[in-house]
Amino acid sequence: EAKGNGKNQVVLFDDSQQERVNRRFVVENELRDAIERDEMRLFFQPIVNDQQVVVGMEGLIRWQHPARGLVPPNEFIPIAEQGGLILAIGRWVLDRACEMLVEWKSDHERQRWTLSVNVSARQFNEPNFIEYLRSLLRRFDFPPERLCIELTETALLNSIDGDLQDKIAALKKQGVKLALDDFGTGYSSLSYLKRLPLNKLKIDQSFVRTLLNDRKDQGITAAVLSMATFLDLEVVAEGVETIEQFNYLRSLGCGAFQGYLFGRPAPIDTFLSNQISCA
Ligand code: C2E
Ligand code: MG
Ligand code: MG
Ligand code: MG
Repeated sequence: EAKGNGKNQVVLFDDSQQERVNRRFVVENELRDAIERDEMRLFFQPIVNDQQVVVGMEGLIRWQHPARGLVPPNEFIPIAEQGGLILAIGRWVLDRACEMLVEWKSDHERQRWTLSVNVSARQFNEPNFIEYLRSLLRRFDFPPERLCIELTETALLNSIDGDLQDKIAALKKQGVKLALDDFGTGYSSLSYLKRLPLNKLKIDQSFVRTLLNDRKDQGITAAVLSMATFLDLEVVAEGVETIEQFNYLRSLGCGAFQGYLFGRPAPIDTFLSNQISCA
Protein backbone atom coordinates (compact mmCIF):
# COMPACT_ATOMS: atom_id res chain seq x y z
CA GLU A 1 0.00 0.00 0.00
CA ALA A 2 1.65 3.18 -1.22
CA LYS A 3 -0.74 5.55 0.49
CA GLY A 4 0.61 7.94 3.05
CA ASN A 5 3.99 6.27 3.35
CA GLY A 6 6.14 8.80 1.58
CA LYS A 7 6.81 12.36 2.53
CA ASN A 8 5.41 15.18 0.46
CA GLN A 9 4.05 12.84 -2.15
CA VAL A 10 0.53 13.13 -3.37
CA VAL A 11 -0.30 9.52 -4.17
CA LEU A 12 -3.88 10.37 -4.99
CA PHE A 13 -2.81 11.77 -8.33
CA ASP A 14 -0.48 9.36 -10.02
CA ASP A 15 -2.40 9.59 -13.29
CA SER A 16 -1.98 12.03 -16.16
CA GLN A 17 -0.78 15.59 -15.79
CA GLN A 18 -4.15 17.03 -16.82
CA GLU A 19 -6.03 14.75 -14.46
CA ARG A 20 -3.67 15.78 -11.69
CA VAL A 21 -4.36 19.46 -12.27
CA ASN A 22 -8.11 18.83 -12.29
CA ARG A 23 -8.04 16.78 -9.10
CA ARG A 24 -5.93 19.38 -7.37
CA PHE A 25 -8.54 21.96 -8.32
CA VAL A 26 -11.35 19.77 -6.98
CA VAL A 27 -9.53 19.03 -3.73
CA GLU A 28 -8.70 22.68 -3.24
CA ASN A 29 -12.33 23.67 -3.67
CA GLU A 30 -13.51 20.98 -1.29
CA LEU A 31 -10.86 21.93 1.23
CA ARG A 32 -12.13 25.48 1.20
CA ASP A 33 -15.34 24.36 2.86
CA ALA A 34 -13.95 21.45 4.83
CA ILE A 35 -13.33 23.42 8.00
CA GLU A 36 -16.79 25.00 8.01
CA ARG A 37 -18.33 21.60 7.35
CA ASP A 38 -16.37 20.34 10.35
CA GLU A 39 -14.52 17.68 8.37
CA MET A 40 -11.09 18.21 9.89
CA ARG A 41 -10.00 15.84 12.66
CA LEU A 42 -7.03 16.12 14.96
CA PHE A 43 -5.61 12.73 15.88
CA PHE A 44 -3.11 12.21 18.69
CA GLN A 45 -0.08 9.98 18.97
CA PRO A 46 1.74 9.43 22.27
CA ILE A 47 5.34 10.50 22.90
CA VAL A 48 6.98 8.46 25.67
CA ASN A 49 10.13 8.70 27.78
CA ASP A 50 12.79 6.00 28.25
CA GLN A 51 10.49 4.23 30.73
CA GLN A 52 7.74 4.17 28.09
CA VAL A 53 5.69 6.60 30.18
CA VAL A 54 3.63 9.09 28.16
CA VAL A 55 5.09 12.59 28.40
CA GLY A 56 3.13 14.19 25.62
CA MET A 57 1.57 13.73 22.24
CA GLU A 58 1.64 15.02 18.72
CA GLY A 59 -1.49 16.29 17.04
CA LEU A 60 -1.79 14.94 13.49
CA ILE A 61 -4.49 16.20 11.16
CA ARG A 62 -6.81 14.08 9.02
CA TRP A 63 -9.60 15.02 6.70
CA GLN A 64 -12.82 13.11 7.23
CA HIS A 65 -14.03 13.35 3.65
CA PRO A 66 -17.73 12.49 3.13
CA ALA A 67 -16.98 10.23 0.16
CA ARG A 68 -13.32 9.30 0.38
CA GLY A 69 -13.15 8.59 4.11
CA LEU A 70 -10.18 9.50 6.23
CA VAL A 71 -7.66 11.34 4.05
CA PRO A 72 -4.06 11.48 5.37
CA PRO A 73 -2.27 14.84 5.60
CA ASN A 74 0.26 14.12 2.85
CA GLU A 75 -2.63 14.12 0.39
CA PHE A 76 -4.01 17.55 1.21
CA ILE A 77 -1.50 19.59 3.22
CA PRO A 78 0.76 20.21 0.18
CA ILE A 79 -2.29 21.41 -1.79
CA ALA A 80 -3.42 23.58 1.11
CA GLU A 81 0.07 25.07 1.26
CA GLN A 82 0.08 26.06 -2.39
CA GLY A 83 -3.33 27.67 -2.37
CA GLY A 84 -2.93 29.41 0.98
CA LEU A 85 -5.68 27.41 2.70
CA ILE A 86 -3.01 26.14 5.07
CA LEU A 87 -3.44 29.35 7.05
CA ALA A 88 -7.03 28.55 7.98
CA ILE A 89 -6.19 24.90 8.57
CA GLY A 90 -3.20 25.80 10.72
CA ARG A 91 -5.30 28.14 12.84
CA TRP A 92 -7.89 25.43 13.30
CA VAL A 93 -5.18 23.02 14.50
CA LEU A 94 -3.70 25.48 16.98
CA ASP A 95 -7.16 26.37 18.29
CA ARG A 96 -7.98 22.71 18.86
CA ALA A 97 -4.63 22.09 20.52
CA CYS A 98 -5.09 24.99 22.93
CA GLU A 99 -8.64 23.90 23.75
CA MET A 100 -7.28 20.49 24.70
CA LEU A 101 -4.60 21.93 26.94
CA VAL A 102 -7.22 24.00 28.72
CA GLU A 103 -9.43 20.95 29.23
CA TRP A 104 -6.53 19.13 30.86
CA LYS A 105 -5.68 21.90 33.25
CA SER A 106 -7.36 20.31 36.22
CA ASP A 107 -6.25 16.74 35.50
CA HIS A 108 -3.15 15.78 37.47
CA GLU A 109 -1.69 13.37 34.99
CA ARG A 110 -2.60 15.18 31.80
CA GLN A 111 -1.29 18.40 33.27
CA ARG A 112 2.20 17.11 32.66
CA TRP A 113 1.74 16.31 28.99
CA THR A 114 3.19 18.49 26.28
CA LEU A 115 1.18 18.89 23.11
CA SER A 116 3.09 19.18 19.83
CA VAL A 117 1.62 20.60 16.65
CA ASN A 118 3.02 20.85 13.16
CA VAL A 119 3.27 24.33 11.74
CA SER A 120 3.88 24.59 8.00
CA ALA A 121 6.46 26.85 6.41
CA ARG A 122 3.77 29.00 4.86
CA GLN A 123 2.05 29.52 8.20
CA PHE A 124 5.25 30.16 10.14
CA ASN A 125 6.37 32.70 7.55
CA GLU A 126 3.18 34.72 7.76
CA PRO A 127 4.22 38.20 8.88
CA ASN A 128 1.77 38.16 11.78
CA PHE A 129 2.32 34.59 12.97
CA ILE A 130 3.94 35.73 16.22
CA GLU A 131 1.14 38.17 17.01
CA TYR A 132 -1.42 35.53 16.18
CA LEU A 133 0.21 33.07 18.54
CA ARG A 134 0.53 35.68 21.26
CA SER A 135 -3.18 36.48 21.17
CA LEU A 136 -3.99 32.79 21.10
CA LEU A 137 -1.92 32.15 24.22
CA ARG A 138 -3.52 35.11 25.91
CA ARG A 139 -7.00 33.84 25.07
CA PHE A 140 -6.33 30.38 26.50
CA ASP A 141 -4.75 30.58 29.88
CA PHE A 142 -2.28 27.72 30.29
CA PRO A 143 1.50 27.45 30.67
CA PRO A 144 2.82 28.11 27.13
CA GLU A 145 5.72 25.66 27.62
CA ARG A 146 3.21 22.85 27.30
CA LEU A 147 2.76 23.74 23.66
CA CYS A 148 5.49 22.60 21.28
CA ILE A 149 5.66 23.84 17.73
CA GLU A 150 7.19 21.47 15.20
CA LEU A 151 8.87 23.06 12.24
CA THR A 152 10.64 21.32 9.39
CA GLU A 153 13.97 22.34 7.99
CA THR A 154 12.15 23.63 4.93
CA ALA A 155 10.18 26.05 7.08
CA LEU A 156 13.40 27.43 8.47
CA LEU A 157 15.14 27.49 5.13
CA ASN A 158 12.34 29.33 3.37
CA SER A 159 12.16 32.16 5.80
CA ILE A 160 14.11 35.32 5.31
CA ASP A 161 17.32 35.03 7.22
CA GLY A 162 17.40 38.01 9.57
CA ASP A 163 13.72 37.54 10.17
CA LEU A 164 14.12 33.96 11.27
CA GLN A 165 16.28 34.66 14.31
CA ASP A 166 13.89 37.37 15.51
CA LYS A 167 10.88 35.20 14.95
CA ILE A 168 12.26 32.25 16.86
CA ALA A 169 13.49 34.50 19.64
CA ALA A 170 9.99 35.98 19.93
CA LEU A 171 8.48 32.51 20.09
CA LYS A 172 10.90 31.56 22.83
CA LYS A 173 10.07 34.68 24.73
CA GLN A 174 6.43 33.65 24.72
CA GLY A 175 7.54 30.39 26.33
CA VAL A 176 6.43 27.88 23.72
CA LYS A 177 8.75 24.99 22.88
CA LEU A 178 10.25 24.49 19.46
CA ALA A 179 11.11 21.23 17.74
CA LEU A 180 12.90 20.65 14.46
CA ASP A 181 10.88 17.92 12.73
CA ASP A 182 12.14 15.25 10.31
CA PHE A 183 15.68 16.14 11.29
CA GLY A 184 18.29 14.96 8.86
CA THR A 185 16.11 14.86 5.76
CA GLY A 186 16.21 18.50 4.68
CA TYR A 187 18.92 20.84 3.60
CA SER A 188 19.54 22.66 6.80
CA SER A 189 23.08 23.32 7.87
CA LEU A 190 24.32 22.47 11.32
CA SER A 191 24.91 26.15 12.00
CA TYR A 192 21.15 26.47 12.48
CA LEU A 193 21.47 24.29 15.52
CA LYS A 194 24.02 26.66 16.92
CA ARG A 195 22.16 29.86 16.13
CA LEU A 196 18.56 28.99 16.82
CA PRO A 197 17.23 28.41 20.32
CA LEU A 198 15.48 25.13 19.59
CA ASN A 199 14.34 22.70 22.30
CA LYS A 200 14.03 19.42 20.45
CA LEU A 201 15.20 17.49 17.45
CA LYS A 202 13.01 14.82 15.99
CA ILE A 203 15.10 12.14 14.27
CA ASP A 204 13.28 11.27 11.10
CA GLN A 205 11.72 7.85 10.84
CA SER A 206 13.74 7.04 7.73
CA PHE A 207 16.82 6.67 9.97
CA VAL A 208 14.95 4.65 12.58
CA ARG A 209 13.38 2.25 10.10
CA THR A 210 16.67 0.66 9.06
CA LEU A 211 18.61 1.44 12.22
CA LEU A 212 19.24 -2.13 13.36
CA ASN A 213 20.80 -3.34 10.13
CA ASP A 214 22.40 -0.25 8.66
CA ARG A 215 25.72 0.90 10.06
CA LYS A 216 25.35 4.29 8.42
CA ASP A 217 22.04 4.97 10.15
CA GLN A 218 23.61 3.86 13.41
CA GLY A 219 26.44 6.32 12.92
CA ILE A 220 24.15 9.20 12.03
CA THR A 221 21.82 8.49 14.93
CA ALA A 222 24.67 8.15 17.45
CA ALA A 223 26.21 11.40 16.18
CA VAL A 224 22.91 13.30 16.39
CA LEU A 225 22.35 12.09 19.94
CA SER A 226 25.82 13.00 21.10
CA MET A 227 25.64 16.40 19.40
CA ALA A 228 22.25 17.04 21.03
CA THR A 229 23.77 16.53 24.48
CA PHE A 230 26.21 19.38 23.90
CA LEU A 231 23.53 21.60 22.41
CA ASP A 232 21.07 20.93 25.26
CA LEU A 233 18.51 19.58 22.85
CA GLU A 234 16.02 16.88 23.66
CA VAL A 235 15.87 14.18 20.99
CA VAL A 236 12.67 12.43 19.98
CA ALA A 237 13.04 9.34 17.78
CA GLU A 238 10.19 9.04 15.27
CA GLY A 239 8.73 5.90 13.75
CA VAL A 240 9.74 3.46 16.51
CA GLU A 241 7.93 0.25 15.66
CA THR A 242 9.82 -2.48 17.50
CA ILE A 243 11.14 -3.03 21.01
CA GLU A 244 14.59 -3.69 19.50
CA GLN A 245 14.61 -0.22 17.94
CA PHE A 246 13.49 1.27 21.24
CA ASN A 247 16.22 -0.54 23.22
CA TYR A 248 18.90 0.36 20.73
CA LEU A 249 17.94 4.04 20.69
CA ARG A 250 17.77 4.10 24.45
CA SER A 251 21.24 2.57 24.69
CA LEU A 252 22.49 5.47 22.57
CA GLY A 253 20.99 7.91 25.07
CA CYS A 254 17.78 8.85 23.30
CA GLY A 255 15.25 10.15 25.83
CA ALA A 256 11.94 10.37 23.95
CA PHE A 257 10.20 8.10 21.50
CA GLN A 258 7.21 8.12 19.17
CA GLY A 259 5.91 5.34 16.99
CA TYR A 260 3.43 2.54 16.46
CA LEU A 261 5.13 0.54 19.26
CA PHE A 262 3.58 2.97 21.77
CA GLY A 263 0.45 3.89 19.88
CA ARG A 264 -0.88 4.91 16.50
CA PRO A 265 -2.41 8.31 15.88
CA ALA A 266 -6.02 8.13 17.13
CA PRO A 267 -8.98 10.34 18.05
CA ILE A 268 -8.61 11.82 21.52
CA ASP A 269 -11.12 9.49 23.17
CA THR A 270 -9.26 6.43 21.87
CA PHE A 271 -5.98 7.98 22.93
CA LEU A 272 -7.21 8.56 26.46
CA SER A 273 -8.79 5.13 26.89
CA ASN A 274 -5.54 3.52 25.65
CA GLN A 275 -3.65 5.41 28.33
CA ILE A 276 -6.02 4.23 31.03
CA SER A 277 -5.89 0.61 29.92
CA CYS A 278 -2.06 0.73 29.94
CA ALA A 279 -1.80 2.14 33.44
P1 C2E B 1 5.35 14.29 10.99
O1 C2E B 1 5.07 15.54 11.69
O2 C2E B 1 6.77 13.88 10.84
O3 C2E B 1 4.48 13.17 11.71
C1 C2E B 1 4.89 11.85 11.88
C2 C2E B 1 4.26 10.93 10.86
O4 C2E B 1 4.76 9.61 11.06
C3 C2E B 1 2.75 10.81 11.01
O5 C2E B 1 2.20 10.61 9.72
C4 C2E B 1 2.59 9.54 11.84
O6 C2E B 1 1.34 8.91 11.70
C5 C2E B 1 3.70 8.70 11.26
N1 C2E B 1 4.16 7.68 12.19
C6 C2E B 1 4.21 7.74 13.54
N2 C2E B 1 4.72 6.63 14.08
C7 C2E B 1 5.01 5.82 13.04
C8 C2E B 1 5.58 4.49 12.95
O7 C2E B 1 5.92 3.85 13.93
N3 C2E B 1 5.74 4.00 11.69
C9 C2E B 1 5.39 4.68 10.58
N4 C2E B 1 5.57 4.10 9.39
N5 C2E B 1 4.85 5.92 10.63
C10 C2E B 1 4.67 6.48 11.85
P2 C2E B 1 0.88 11.39 9.27
O8 C2E B 1 -0.06 11.52 10.40
O9 C2E B 1 0.41 10.77 8.00
O10 C2E B 1 1.44 12.84 8.97
C11 C2E B 1 2.36 13.05 7.92
C12 C2E B 1 2.89 14.45 7.93
O11 C2E B 1 1.88 15.41 7.66
C13 C2E B 1 3.46 14.88 9.29
O12 C2E B 1 4.75 14.34 9.47
C14 C2E B 1 3.43 16.38 9.15
O13 C2E B 1 4.56 16.82 8.42
C15 C2E B 1 2.19 16.60 8.31
N6 C2E B 1 1.09 17.03 9.19
C16 C2E B 1 0.31 16.28 9.99
N7 C2E B 1 -0.56 17.04 10.68
C17 C2E B 1 -0.31 18.32 10.33
C18 C2E B 1 -0.86 19.59 10.70
O14 C2E B 1 -1.75 19.70 11.56
N8 C2E B 1 -0.34 20.70 10.08
C19 C2E B 1 0.68 20.61 9.16
N9 C2E B 1 1.15 21.76 8.62
N10 C2E B 1 1.22 19.44 8.80
C20 C2E B 1 0.74 18.31 9.38
MG1 MG C 1 5.63 16.45 13.35
MG1 MG D 1 8.54 13.98 11.55
MG1 MG E 1 7.16 13.94 8.48
